[in-house]
Amino acid sequence: MGAGLRTRAADANVHPMYILRTFFDLPPLQAHASAGGDRSPALQSGAMKIHRHFMGSAWVCLLLAACQMAAPIPTATATLTAAPAPTLTFTPPPTFTSTPGPAIRRVIILSIDGLRPDAIQAAPMPNLLALMKTGAYTLSAQTVHPSATLPAHASMLTGLCPAKHGVDWNDYLPENGIAQGVDLFDLAHAAGLRTLIYTGKEKLQQVTDASSLDAFVWVNDRDKVLMQNLLADFPADFVVLFIHFATTDDMGHVYGWLSPEQLSVVFRADEALGELLSALDARGLRGETLLIVTSDHGGHGTIHGSSLPEDMTIPWIASGPGLYVGQLQTRVHTMDTAATAAFALGLPIPADWDGVPVYEALGLPVGKTSQDCP
Ligand SMILES: [Zn+2]
Repeated sequence: MGAGLRTRAADANVHPMYILRTFFDLPPLQAHASAGGDRSPALQSGAMKIHRHFMGSAWVCLLLAACQMAAPIPTATATLTAAPAPTLTFTPPPTFTSTPGPAIRRVIILSIDGLRPDAIQAAPMPNLLALMKTGAYTLSAQTVHPSATLPAHASMLTGLCPAKHGVDWNDYLPENGIAQGVDLFDLAHAAGLRTLIYTGKEKLQQVTDASSLDAFVWVNDRDKVLMQNLLADFPADFVVLFIHFATTDDMGHVYGWLSPEQLSVVFRADEALGELLSALDARGLRGETLLIVTSDHGGHGTIHGSSLPEDMTIPWIASGPGLYVGQLQTRVHTMDTAATAAFALGLPIPADWDGVPVYEALGLPVGKTSQDCP
């Protein structure tokens, strides 16, 4: 399955201006008009999208930092269409009936694309390290094979192993459809809960049906800019919010995993996390929010996608009310993220999910744990 993936080609398709601005943390460029093309049927059927289009800059810009002021400029184009009513008809039997944590009313999943666990200390990531001190964590959680962005995020959010969700490609291929199965957004939206995705990669719209989202926002820019977009329009009534930072992966493909250049943007990702935490605090939401910070895969050299531990091992850090504090003994798999989120919100977990709630993290007895995908 992995042989057919074009992981590196897809993820390394980074504009040189973007790299330059990312590395030096340059301020956002001013916009000029250029509409992004809505190629996706999913987007046409609903949801909100921001296109930031970088046009025409040459590689020479890498050598001439000053040209950033004169470079062609990204465009923000937003369209908002009311999402259609959910049409799900499944009635999955609840697998578990115990009551989740005391006051979890919303879930935020932050996926830092390509974040190796050993980058957290090396960068460092002080905000994430602080979450580890006050929450439940493991630095040896496992993603799925192929350890590539789209299959892994599909497993993270559908609770299913790749053989079930069927996403065996890693490019944005709308003609392939979306991940199969009932995913976290389907569950939440069918229950009348507000669901949002803010992502740095357009292709992540293939993890769920647009009708299960109140908004899908693609911000093709640095993690900090994505966070600024989110906080500028902070959705007060969300229940499931998935945030995806792309920059760590982008820089890994160019400069290598754990390179100084990548670690510098890992530090920036942590700053963006800090802004999110401050916003939650300011709104009084921190005490009722389950926040899971994780990743889709690691990396080695300038690639990932293999079954090597460097690619397969991911961090999994949960913070929120009533959670266990300390290092988890449970062997966590990325499918458990969806299951933990669903369980914490009291949503019925479909019987065919491979993911299992990380009960230990929720301060509950561990009755069952997930297994490696076949
Ligand atoms: Zn990725």
